[in-house]
Amino acid sequence: MLVTGASRGIGAATARMAAARGWDVVVNYANNSGAADAVVAECEAAGARATAVQADVGDEAQVLALFAAVAEFGPLACLVNNAGILHPQSPLAEFSVERLAEVTRVNVIGATLCVREAVRAMSTERGGSGGTIVNVSSAAAYLGSPNEYIDYAATKGALDTLTVGLAKEVARQGIRVNAVRPGLIETDIHASGGMPDRVERLAHLIPMGRGGRPDEVAETILFLASDASSYVTGALLDVSGGR
Ligand code: NAP
Repeated sequence: MLVTGASRGIGAATARMAAARGWDVVVNYANNSGAADAVVAECEAAGARATAVQADVGDEAQVLALFAAVAEFGPLACLVNNAGILHPQSPLAEFSVERLAEVTRVNVIGATLCVREAVRAMSTERGGSGGTIVNVSSAAAYLGSPNEYIDYAATKGALDTLTVGLAKEVARQGIRVNAVRPGLIETDIHASGGMPDRVERLAHLIPMGRGGRPDEVAETILFLASDASSYVTGALLDVSGGR
């Protein structure tokens, strides 16, 4: 299993849980090698083979190098397309073109490059053995994130559309493609958005009355990654406490 953005947050929780369930794991990260190495150590302690590979998913050459490293590690059976970014909260009228370019580069182009390489590796029409792809979208795709990050929400809408289209395109090539749409989950991403205590502040808006934990998202990702979901493809599964 390749998990992009696995040094922290939802990706790290997914890598750890996958390792505990018998997957060998490639832990991709952008900058934080110390955190990635710690996740690798935890995966190995769980009995899995694991390795950390640095790559910016928004850069094609780095994505190609990442998938070459994955191929050397072992045949790719699952891509968890998790790496994603957002910028500080702002009304749309204040967005700069640099901000729009960066969030699109990582969240849309990066995610698309990763699924492209995964399809090339897994497709039974290309000599692969099939596999699963789980895209990590967001509840933002249907909420729209007004006054916070409509740009980010729109990239997640794009990821949903990619999920639906690609699922149909590769359904007869042995590949299932699904997405999870997390709601408010306790990770570092809210500090990137300028509000580290965002989950606590907005918990009253969640029908279940609390934010989610990364391992609760990981559990759903691993369901979609595994044969337990063998007849599920093109699904957008909300993990949002009812929000
Ligand atoms: P996070 O705690 O901020 O962690 C982000 C991870 O992505 C880190 O491992 C980071 O690596 C990596 N990353 C960032 N840019 C990258 C790039 N260009 N190339 C490769 N890796 C990159 O985020 P998170 O909250 O776990 O979010 C993970 C995914 O869930 C994202 O797609 C996010 O949109 C989605 N999501 C999160 C929430 C939430 O409430 N937390 C809700 C809905 C959806 P470094 O450690 O090296 O920086």
